[in-house]
Amino acid sequence: MGGNNADVIVVGGGVVGLAVAFRLQQRGRRVIVLERGRCGREASWAGAGVISAANPHRSDAMYHMHCESIDAYESFCHELTELSGVNTEYERCGSLDMLTTLQAVEMAQSDVRATADQSMPDGQPVMEMIANEDVRGFEPNIARNCLAFALRRKTAQVRNPRLLEALQTAGTNLGADVREGIEVMRFVVEGDRVVGVDGGDPHGGTIQKFRADHVVLCAGAWSAGIGGGTIQDLFSVYPVRGQIILLNCGGRPIRHVINRRDLYMVCRGDGRLLAGATEEHESGFVKRNTPEGIYWLTLSAAAAVPKLTEMAIETMWAGLRPGTPDRRPYIGLVPGFPGLVAATGHFRTGLTLAPVTADIVCELIDTGSTNRDLRRCAPGRSFGHSG
Ligand SMILES: Cc1cc2nc3c(=O)[nH]c(=O)nc-3n(C[C@H](O)[C@H](O)[C@H](O)COP(=O)(O)OP(=O)(O)OC[C@H]3O[C@@H](n4cnc5c(N)ncnc54)[C@H](O)[C@@H]3O)c2cc1C
Repeated sequence: MGGNNADVIVVGGGVVGLAVAFRLQQRGRRVIVLERGRCGREASWAGAGVISAANPHRSDAMYHMHCESIDAYESFCHELTELSGVNTEYERCGSLDMLTTLQAVEMAQSDVRATADQSMPDGQPVMEMIANEDVRGFEPNIARNCLAFALRRKTAQVRNPRLLEALQTAGTNLGADVREGIEVMRFVVEGDRVVGVDGGDPHGGTIQKFRADHVVLCAGAWSAGIGGGTIQDLFSVYPVRGQIILLNCGGRPIRHVINRRDLYMVCRGDGRLLAGATEEHESGFVKRNTPEGIYWLTLSAAAAVPKLTEMAIETMWAGLRPGTPDRRPYIGLVPGFPGLVAATGHFRTGLTLAPVTADIVCELIDTGSTNRDLRRCAPGRSFGHSG
């Protein structure tokens, strides 16, 4: 495909944009992805790759979308590996919550009751309480100074930099035109319709015109900053910094994703253990590690798995999650701007929700509608008392 015209322009080459482009291209659409830097180097790269189980108490449309995404993840990764040759290291490792307060125990017990009718393919319950004396069999290295543990078998992990490489390669192999180093400056509206975008080298130079029947906004934390009439007023997306430390443990001191209060840890097959993540709402667009963040991460990790105090810190990083006031994404047709579709603001679950988000965007572009209830993800929604 040549030129700057396509069926669909995807703005942003993070996990959401690349998943959308991959699925659309599979359905025969001609897609151009415009990425300001290099694809998959922002929040999607910085993330921990935990494919988190859905909160069973939120039996709304978002809960069902979340369940759909985690249930589809294994075959999604398998398909990507087939098409790209890249192993995403997907693993349904399960997670173990370390419960340190009575309230946390009661909430976990309530989650177990709420999921009592669900089971794994091998018949095991999706969730189960584990007593202190039994946890050694699951995770010999974790601290046992907890009241109890909750095992969530649906939690999985993926090596997100590999997932991104697989998505980009698979999409490109199918014919997607991925342009790196192009910053979208504004949406182009003709009449009431979004007909394309203008963009170019972020460091200056000629502005290029890109035209398409549909534009999909997947610019992560930067989504509210793209010009074009009043479109940006419909998106309250802002950066929420998350810091992570990476320890090189040689072997695997933990098998499950371990959650202890606000900290989680996940260990890759090669013994690299990620401990994350801070949630900093006032960070602005500043990606950096801070002494306070690293202090909290190292102390919390050592409290959960004492053996980690002996391990080498290999590196650390920070990324900017696309936050929204109600912690829900924007997914849907953008009211008042036909031609524009939103897929942004995934906050802490963008890696988890990318497959279902891509399917929904395809449906919206193919048919103009979806049978899913997207009201709570609607662009332009108000945030009155929803918290
Ligand atoms: C520390 C941390 C840990 C996390 N852990 C997990 C986890 O374990 N599981 C999980 O599900 N989620 C996790 N997340 C959240 C997840 O990473 C995000 O929700 C997800 O990556 C968002 O994907 P995205 O494609 O919307 O954004 P991004 O990956 O940020 O991609 C947006 C892209 O758009 C580009 N862009 C921006 N503006 C423009 C423009 N004007 N023109 C062209 N391109 C533009 C950017 O350069 C960027 O590449 C974590 C996030 C962080 C920071």
